[in-house]
Amino acid sequence: MKMKAAVMTGVGQPLAIQEVTLDAPKANEVLVRVAATGVCHSDLNALDDETTPFPTILGHEGAGVVEAVGPNVTKVKPGDKVALSWVPYCGTCEFCVTGAVHLCESAFGPMFEGTLLDGTTRLSKDGEKIYHNSLLSTFAEYTVVPEMSCVKLPDEMPLAQASLIGCGVATGYGAAVHAAGVTPGSTVAVFGIGGVGVNAIQGARIAGASKIIACDMKPANLEIAKKFGATHTINVGEENAEERLKELTDGFGVHFAIDCTGNTNATQSAWKGTRKGGTVVVIGAFHPAKEITLPAGGFHRVGKVLKGSFYGNTQPFRDFPAIAKLYLDGKFNLDDLVLGRIQLDEINKAFDSFHDACCINVGRTVIEFPEK
Ligand SMILES: [Zn+2]
Ligand SMILES: [Zn+2]
Repeated sequence: MKMKAAVMTGVGQPLAIQEVTLDAPKANEVLVRVAATGVCHSDLNALDDETTPFPTILGHEGAGVVEAVGPNVTKVKPGDKVALSWVPYCGTCEFCVTGAVHLCESAFGPMFEGTLLDGTTRLSKDGEKIYHNSLLSTFAEYTVVPEMSCVKLPDEMPLAQASLIGCGVATGYGAAVHAAGVTPGSTVAVFGIGGVGVNAIQGARIAGASKIIACDMKPANLEIAKKFGATHTINVGEENAEERLKELTDGFGVHFAIDCTGNTNATQSAWKGTRKGGTVVVIGAFHPAKEITLPAGGFHRVGKVLKGSFYGNTQPFRDFPAIAKLYLDGKFNLDDLVLGRIQLDEINKAFDSFHDACCINVGRTVIEFPEK
């Protein structure tokens, strides 16, 4: 079929709106009519990355309606509303069978090669191959994706909000609920109030935390954090986070800290501001040359846990419908994460706004496609 897409034609170049060809889904693949797709900072990183195979169609946060299914597909049928996951898993490796599907490695080879799971592409223009990106390529009217990327949602779920579930929303929620395992009545600190941090706050709120302390340098972000459930804020540019966290928690520090910053100094503050027996979850990506330094004296006595979490330990088929249900019940705020709605033709505006330091970075510009 022919369709309109925003094509990355070169590193750092504005995306080009082009008519491209999309082949039919093969076995275990699904054709989805994209209804909405968020523009994520990771898309900008991919656009600026010399290693991204191009021409390609970016976009890895999306929701839409199943149009057709390939052979062997059983999880969805035409007409189903779906949110997409960029971490499809195999279901049979050691990680998958022990429940850590977020650690499955089956998708990462194809992801870096710019193909679907079978190592081939469904996208082309005038006979020339176009690469997939993150197995989803949602900056297009339609996409062919793995069945394991398609998570069915309730019919009443609005698709602009649904499009955000598969990336920062699930990551932040999962960091609190699954990786940290926040317990009712506990105290939680979230470092780094961005697209992941506010959803870690929401996860902590839903898990029943009694105090949720947002830690960031930007006053505007700390203000936004309150909308999502933060009960206290610490401006780490002006205050000593460790001391303030202890003051707010009877001198002991928080039970759980979630570090979304990618900054090792924040990890150290999170560690020091966490009480004995507590847990620090690192969800932000560090520069590979960095090392985390922790106090060795008394390390064995404090019994704390420091753990990394990829994709918030998300299990898409468990967590996406749960988040949609929480949204529909009025308990999960996705509405305030949709910062603006634009058409595909205007996509470069969304990329430009990443370079504007004054822009709010909590939430997403969402591209919506007119219904066919
Ligand atoms: Zn993303
Ligand atoms: Zn696996």
